[in-house]
Amino acid sequence: MSGGEQLRVAAYCRVSTAQDDQLHSLEHQRRYFAEYISRRPDWALVEIYADRGLSGTTVHRPAFQRMIAAAQAGEIDLILTKEVSRFARNTVDALAHTRALRRIGVGVVFITDNIDTRQNDGEFRLTIMASVAQEESRKTSERVKWGQRRSMEQGVVFGCNNIYGFDLRGGRLTVKPEEAAVIRTVYHKFLHEGKGTYIIARELTGAGIPPPRARDKPWSSTMVLRLLRNEKYCGDLLQKKTCTPDFLDHRKVKNDGREEQVYLRGHHEAIVPREQFDAVQRELARRAPNGQKKRHSARYWCSGKLVCGGCGSRFVPRQRIRADGSMYRFWACRAQVQHGRAGCTMHPVPHSTVCAGMLYLLDRIGIDTGRAATETAALCLKTAGADGEACRAFLQTESLPGGAAYAALPEQITVEERALAVRLRGVPGMFRLQAEDWKRGIFSSCERVQDT
Ligand SMILES: [Zn+2]
Repeated sequence: MSGGEQLRVAAYCRVSTAQDDQLHSLEHQRRYFAEYISRRPDWALVEIYADRGLSGTTVHRPAFQRMIAAAQAGEIDLILTKEVSRFARNTVDALAHTRALRRIGVGVVFITDNIDTRQNDGEFRLTIMASVAQEESRKTSERVKWGQRRSMEQGVVFGCNNIYGFDLRGGRLTVKPEEAAVIRTVYHKFLHEGKGTYIIARELTGAGIPPPRARDKPWSSTMVLRLLRNEKYCGDLLQKKTCTPDFLDHRKVKNDGREEQVYLRGHHEAIVPREQFDAVQRELARRAPNGQKKRHSARYWCSGKLVCGGCGSRFVPRQRIRADGSMYRFWACRAQVQHGRAGCTMHPVPHSTVCAGMLYLLDRIGIDTGRAATETAALCLKTAGADGEACRAFLQTESLPGGAAYAALPEQITVEERALAVRLRGVPGMFRLQAEDWKRGIFSSCERVQDT
């Protein structure tokens, strides 16, 4: 937008269709936004987009979709909306939408929440709201899980009826004879014929045996491996193999110890003898290339975000016990960890220095982290009705106030010679922070580097 021109402003709202709900009628919303916009001579109203249904949870939102399309077409500069909860299904969703809009230069103003995504702390405050909303959601989900866990301990099998070799009805497993025979063949080939999973897969396909769940496709070595690893075939039951760590997108991931598992021995009729199953597990461990790659979950707010400015490798978390017994946490270039100084010569960075750098950056770009965190948390408490103390404790994790919230802020942090180059999500360019004292995490300058 060039100077003097008006900012093209759109408004988004949810309207009630109930006759007696005057406050949430389309007419009332129109007047509200028209008046709000008329107070700004440099603003011009483009359109008021209104979807039916008051909550943001409604899946079908045609007006919202039209508005996003108009923004992408470059017809809107700014979007006004009353509050975060009306804008999207949840705060995390709102954050995703505002980021996408910000990337194409469109700001969003949440009038009641007093958040403007064009301002530097807008993104930060939305991120905190997202973290708190997520925490709230987690607690609700925990209560649901408690009930599910009681049933699991009683041996009720959860999931849909797609376990190869078994029929699942009413939470109980019964053996399917034809598929059980295939499973026994696989165990025999692996253990007694010494064949690998790839060969077994090829032989099964060659024999015309349909694989699990994909009748018209060939067997894969992964399918064979799953049969060899599944404890259900020796009659046991492991509950909670997967869990849903992100309660807002409901995506399932492998439960690598995040949630307690329930293991029931001799839960149902076995397909292979326990001795054979155990022998297969030992054989699998023996044949596996040593040190199977273990994907660690994000343990730090900056996990997976630190990159080596020297060689481009990722930085990995390390720790060492100091002489005085305290723990020293730092990040080092993976190439260096694996191959020593021949791999890469970039110096490691103390975890405390990364934290200090982030705080320094937020301070330099004008985000009062303390105030933003406190105010936003207060807003969250008001809207979500969260428990105040728990919420504050949550925001104070990991030595950074709002450690969890910070996780969403940086997209990448490049480690350079006594400097960190931080790319913030949704913000063009990078911020290069020069350290005065690298070990103690004292930074002396912050320079904005534009993308070339
Ligand atoms: Zn490196």
